[in-house]
Amino acid sequence: HAGPEPGYLGGLNAEQRLAVETTEGPVLVLAGAGTGKTRVLTTRIAHILATGRAQPSQILAVTFTNKAAREMKERVAHLVGAVAEGMPWLGTFHSIGTRILRRHAELVGLKSNFTILDTDDQIRLMKQVIAAENIDEKRWPARQLAGLIDSWKNRALGPDQVLPGEAQAFANGRGGELYRLYQERLKTLNAADFGDLLVEAIRLFRENADVLELYQRRFRYVLVDEYQDTNVAQYLWLRLLAQGREPGQRNLACVGDDDQSIYGWRGAEVDNILRFEHDFPGARVVRLERNYRSTGHILTAASALIAHNQGRLGKTLRTEDVAGEPVTITGAWDSEEEARLVGEEIEALHVKGHSLAEMAILVRISAQMRELEDRLVQLGVPYRVIGGPRFYERMEIRDALAYLRCVASPADDLAFERILNTPKRGLGDATVQVLHAHARAARIPLMEAARYLVETEELKPKPRGTLRELLTAFGRWSGLMDTLRQGELAEIVLEESGYTDMWQRDRSAEAAGRLENLKELVRSLEEFPDLQAFLEHVSLVMEIGDGDTNERVSLMTLHAAKGLEFETVFLPGWEEGLFPNQRALDESGRAGLEEERRLAHVGLTRARRRARIYFASNRRIHGMWNATVPSRFIDELPESAVEVIDAPASYSYGGYGASRFDTVGQTPSSYATPGWQRAQARGFGSPGGGFGRGGTGGGGPGHGGFDRGAGQARRRGGTV
Ligand code: ATP
Ligand code: MG
Repeated sequence: HAGPEPGYLGGLNAEQRLAVETTEGPVLVLAGAGTGKTRVLTTRIAHILATGRAQPSQILAVTFTNKAAREMKERVAHLVGAVAEGMPWLGTFHSIGTRILRRHAELVGLKSNFTILDTDDQIRLMKQVIAAENIDEKRWPARQLAGLIDSWKNRALGPDQVLPGEAQAFANGRGGELYRLYQERLKTLNAADFGDLLVEAIRLFRENADVLELYQRRFRYVLVDEYQDTNVAQYLWLRLLAQGREPGQRNLACVGDDDQSIYGWRGAEVDNILRFEHDFPGARVVRLERNYRSTGHILTAASALIAHNQGRLGKTLRTEDVAGEPVTITGAWDSEEEARLVGEEIEALHVKGHSLAEMAILVRISAQMRELEDRLVQLGVPYRVIGGPRFYERMEIRDALAYLRCVASPADDLAFERILNTPKRGLGDATVQVLHAHARAARIPLMEAARYLVETEELKPKPRGTLRELLTAFGRWSGLMDTLRQGELAEIVLEESGYTDMWQRDRSAEAAGRLENLKELVRSLEEFPDLQAFLEHVSLVMEIGDGDTNERVSLMTLHAAKGLEFETVFLPGWEEGLFPNQRALDESGRAGLEEERRLAHVGLTRARRRARIYFASNRRIHGMWNATVPSRFIDELPESAVEVIDAPASYSYGGYGASRFDTVGQTPSSYATPGWQRAQARGFGSPGGGFGRGGTGGGGPGHGGFDRGAGQARRRGGTV
């Protein structure tokens, strides 16, 4: 390509450019955080389009979240303009898997309008399967089975492929059998769970060579971001699509960083990185070493931290940026004070002119969010929560969605069961049992069974009448689908079903927030072409942002922060037990610890200019106060890159010294950096005898901060 250099290549360094311009053949970019991996992918797409190598519809680009997909689209459009429009195959594994599966559903025993179950529905269905087999659910909980089945699906194992040893783990070796029954139930319900979206797509490809070939031909270029977090099923899916063609056409480009692999607990396998070169011989491996994101101190801190891990492929990471502000570490008395400190710092930066959109609070577990949200609401700082389908997970939203699902697909049994007696209308367990029995015997959906039963004497007159009314209403609502806008329809459904009324009459403190959320739901419905598209969206949303680019602080888990960057990052809750998380340590030992450390590394490397770490000496976990000690990860940061901030003396500490850890008896053996102990002795940490570890009933001492009484500002609804 002679002529002037296209603008989109400008500013790339030599290695980045190589990765962009090597369009043909397999390419693996293995590089640390902030080195421009995502930028390389985006530019690569732009390059492929601009040089006419492929149409937008011939590029398959996989990202980890919908948000990342949206951003990538925007970036490509920014680089090459209108050519980038379309890109129908740029999305998450799940969204793309769904698209493919809908087109060929009948080949795997589904109909094209199949429902995608969320975790809740999944568990409910498993409960039914377990009960139908007369297995004691108390002894063999559905959640455990769900975990097993997920892990099998992550590895693309069907019921026949489950290793006997693993099937043994549930109900005396009946794991595989229950898996099969569960799959059969899904098919009868015309439903798929999240894992199926890929596993069934793989089966589709394996069993239908012509379909596979169709897609292999279509996708001339395949690109994958966050490759380190793919699981076996995702890898197999990719390999099927990219490997089948002539060697010269295996145009697969994957970018990843083993130090950011944080989904091992969900079946991700870093080994996929090693496999790549094996499965795609001749792959070009590109390494990027310059970090363009963070200042020197932040990078030094992050690199020193991750150096404590053993299982690493090894990389160099350097910055040419200034050292900048050191990473700060602030100790708070308790989690409430911690939230206050974070809130005040946000306000202070904001007053100095820093944009809220450039600040993020990253937490280890979502339960940490509530206190932070409370504080932000109190301060009037606008924020949004990203990651985790929080809004759609709320009870009232789920109820409303169940109504809408029944309207859209009357055969949706799980939805029907959910709302049958919500609000309470006298259709209790007895009625449900009769419905179930008939539905099972006649092999028909519940709603159809109900239509039959209201014409018979099987139900008592009262429930029969109520049920008839409900069915009539559903008939009416379904009839309105084509004439009314979906928002209006939803409003009518919620009104006429008595659901809105139920919350209007509710005297509890949350009711107002719930009504607000329902309004918000109706509003959001209007953003979609139709109800079906909306329901589709809901089942796929992995993260919620309200879409506006307003001035808002972002609040999310560390897991959800992958790939993102902010000028200032707040990292609260760096305490042993919380972070590293005790569960991860208990379940996976050293590997668990290393994954936690990678998560800390991800957190730090999200920051461009400022990283602020916090820990609290007392935290309420499951409603009980616990004395805590600072995270070992704090110890692992080099003193040269950090600054310890004295918390404002809002409480009188004192009366304890460096030896207090012995008093509390909580010093982990690895906790042995005297420098930090000195720092902590200056004012961090809990007073030795103040609290019983493990919480003795949840009451703190006479300390104002613990008395979170009625005066506390309530969390506002609809803040997502
Ligand atoms: P992560 O591992 O966190 O996903 P990444 O490797 O994908 O990071 P990017 O998000 O692509 O990194 O880039 C990090 C930042 O550096 C972005 O702001 C990007 O615009 C910038 N950047 C990347 N390459 C260059 C370059 N050659 N010149 C200037 N800025 C760059
Ligand atoms: Mg990236």
